[in-house]
Amino acid sequence: MLGRIDQGRPGPTFLVQGGIHGNEPAGVEALRRVLRELESRAIRVHGKIVACCGNLAALRQSRRFLARDLNRSWLRPAVESLLARDAAQDVDEDGEQRALLELYAECERARRGALVFVDLHTSSAEGPPFTCMADTLPNRRIADAIPVPMILGLEECIDGAVMEWFNERGQIGIAVEGGRHGDQATVDNLESAVWLAMAACGVIATADAEVARHRERLDRASRGVPHLVEIRYRHAITDAHRFQMVPGYVSFQPVARGDLLGHQADGPVRAGEDGMVLLPLYQGQGEDGFFLGRRVPRFWFALSALLRRLGLSGLVSLLPGVQRDPGDPNRLLVDPRVARYLVVQVFHLFGYRRLRPVGGKLAFSRRWAARDSGRVRPRSS
Ligand SMILES: [Zn+2]
Repeated sequence: MLGRIDQGRPGPTFLVQGGIHGNEPAGVEALRRVLRELESRAIRVHGKIVACCGNLAALRQSRRFLARDLNRSWLRPAVESLLARDAAQDVDEDGEQRALLELYAECERARRGALVFVDLHTSSAEGPPFTCMADTLPNRRIADAIPVPMILGLEECIDGAVMEWFNERGQIGIAVEGGRHGDQATVDNLESAVWLAMAACGVIATADAEVARHRERLDRASRGVPHLVEIRYRHAITDAHRFQMVPGYVSFQPVARGDLLGHQADGPVRAGEDGMVLLPLYQGQGEDGFFLGRRVPRFWFALSALLRRLGLSGLVSLLPGVQRDPGDPNRLLVDPRVARYLVVQVFHLFGYRRLRPVGGKLAFSRRWAARDSGRVRPRSS
């Protein structure tokens, strides 16, 4: 725990975390700065601010994790199996996760308004700051307030990120990537993102957040980068791949199909399609070699918000080739031979999440936080 501020006024709970990856201390440093400033300027807090460290043991050793990635450990079965085990048998990340679970549960239990979770990260490659989130309208409200590129769909290709834990429980949860590990500008970027997120959820007033100054800083840091990018491909690796990224790639760098991106045990790795590289891996630990993304047009984003507000999400089930999964009413199955064009895009548009394929069919489910419950309002005075 880094700090907790509750001045007894009603409002949302803003839970912000740094260092879930132990080699990313910039988030922790940014939070220390924010807490100091909240205190020194005696800023009025409406609701509660809780700032915490993620993987303490890994932070002490400056490693991403000890035995398992604590930002890939939050699928419900994994959490249930941890809780079913005897805490006396805990090894490596077990105790860390147990402590975080307790803190998250307490924030959820004690909340009187919306619960907004923000996870702070940095990366091994150069690149501008950006936000990552599952595309729900409540998540958008927070991410929209942070003027950096927004990456959608990461949760469809990595399982068990912490923000997903919150989304699945109907809460708001987004991640912010501040820039390269160790750059001083990375700490600045994360600090600005935290101030803007606090103002967006209303836990502090926009004037106290000095919104203009922080917006300007992030605007500058991400100038010239597309605003909205959708992940299309994840290059999954294990130690056995001995993957090496070709040096010099930065996040959002355009690539063409066939471009050489890396080398691994079974040969060269090339881009499977045109797009841009995201999060190229230049550190030892990690299961994601790189991601490929593609720009999403702004109008598409606005249109999808409209369709969801109008409650039209159910219409996709009427499309040809789409059937409800008899085994799971929340899941839609799509026969790719019938529904050929823009299937994934159309489902995203209507607020669905892509799942792993089922029996040769594409599978989708409604987004968890699609209920749009948490009321979040900026506080202007
Ligand atoms: Zn990270």
